[in-house]
Amino acid sequence: MQKIGILGGGQLGKMLLQSAANYPVETYLMESDLECPAAHLCHHFVKGDIRNFNDVYDFGKELNAITIEIESVNEEALEKLEAEGVKVYPRPAALKIIKNKILQKQYYKDNQIPTADFVVTKTNNELNNHLSFLPAVHKLGVGGYDGRGVEIIKTAEDLPRAFNEPSVLEKMVVIQKEISQIIAINASGEVALYPPVDMVFDKHLNLLEYQISPADIPEKALWKIEAISLAVVKGLKSPGIFAVELFIDNKDEVYVNETAPRVHNSGHHTIEANYSSQFDMLWRIMLGYPLGNTEHILPAAIVNLIGGDGHSGEARYEGLHEVLQMDNVFVHIYGKKQTRPGRKMGHVTVLSKEKRELEYKANRIKNTLSVKV
Ligand code: ADP
Repeated sequence: MQKIGILGGGQLGKMLLQSAANYPVETYLMESDLECPAAHLCHHFVKGDIRNFNDVYDFGKELNAITIEIESVNEEALEKLEAEGVKVYPRPAALKIIKNKILQKQYYKDNQIPTADFVVTKTNNELNNHLSFLPAVHKLGVGGYDGRGVEIIKTAEDLPRAFNEPSVLEKMVVIQKEISQIIAINASGEVALYPPVDMVFDKHLNLLEYQISPADIPEKALWKIEAISLAVVKGLKSPGIFAVELFIDNKDEVYVNETAPRVHNSGHHTIEANYSSQFDMLWRIMLGYPLGNTEHILPAAIVNLIGGDGHSGEARYEGLHEVLQMDNVFVHIYGKKQTRPGRKMGHVTVLSKEKRELEYKANRIKNTLSVKV
């Protein structure tokens, strides 16, 4: 039986392990937190730091393959493991490009993939040389996550918020829609595209709050989304699951925002809504089985369950009974003991062939279910 390891034991690791239970595979998990969401679902738990070279190398060296649920892993250890014959999903060379927003933007530019114009900055002072570039978005090269590491710089007055570390200053796009395109690609280069997802953001927390798949996309933009996402993924030359996040602007032009080289929050609905979920698909790829069917069984909405403002401590779920009474609604509580404002604590998927019903139920769930202490 193949031995496959996952770096990181959060909700993505958890859902990946839920899917692994259907396949002949022995699962390994490395995470520093013994009480992480995925800990009790793997065959072998290893306590370790996914950012530490020795921890990652020692964890991976006896495995057939290894994957990640977060980008902030020790990529040097993954490179060594790959050189020694361990299959790594995504390949370390692809991870290296994506991990650093400067390299990632440069990759799009070098490959003629449409993305918002940008300049690279090393210090916050340098932004004074680019005032004509405003309004813009300043993004930290490494270490940003879930909206931390992104600052909107509209005018010179916003300059104090700029980062004093290597970053990209990116032209502000007039966003009509934010779309996520999840793509599966296997070792032979065969691809399968999931229906695109419409992502709606909470502007206050900068966290995804609501999404619908398939997305309602202007005809003119649809083929661009497909072509651009395929170009992004093919150029990275790595098997795996990729989520390409794109903007459609007010002229129906399409730009890549960023890419995640792993299973993604915008694909959680595929567990119930699509024949082969993104998690199922990654096992198929890693175990060398045929790609699954990405078509949807029914359209879906996802509501993210985020730790409420002003609530830090042991989590309590309010409104769960009511939501569990709703038809065609699937609740996923990740099992994190502690809640914090903005922390991803769970999600709820709604299925319906009526878009209005999806929106109605998603709103009802948002207004009913909350995480408190
Ligand atoms: P993160 O890696 O934290 O998800 P993103 O790069 O996706 O950060 O940016 C977070 C959000 O900021 C995006 O979803 C989008 O709403 C907004 N944003 C990012 N870049 C731009 C841009 N060039 N123009 C307009 N809005 C942007």
